[in-house]
Amino acid sequence: MPTYIYKCSECDHLFEAIHSYKERLTDCIKCGKEKTLKKQFNTPIQVIKKNQTGKNKPGEIVKQEIERNKQEIRQFDEERKRKNNKQ
Ligand SMILES: [Zn+2]
Repeated sequence: MPTYIYKCSECDHLFEAIHSYKERLTDCIKCGKEKTLKKQFNTPIQVIKKNQTGKNKPGEIVKQEIERNKQEIRQFDEERKRKNNKQ
């Protein structure tokens, strides 16, 4: 299943969610507010990551967004890896 990035418009919490393309999250997992989540990319994150390191350059907006959120995404990845290691 594809991974999507969501951002909460209320608390700016950024996180990845894995679900089918038909589904859509709306409620923030951090602050608990409803209908504050916005999908950051229409493209699944696997594709964006591939474009980052590959020859295909991502669009400027996506690029800026990645720069802005890269650190948070990395932190999320590390957290997820730690959780996976524990399981
Ligand atoms: Zn929130």
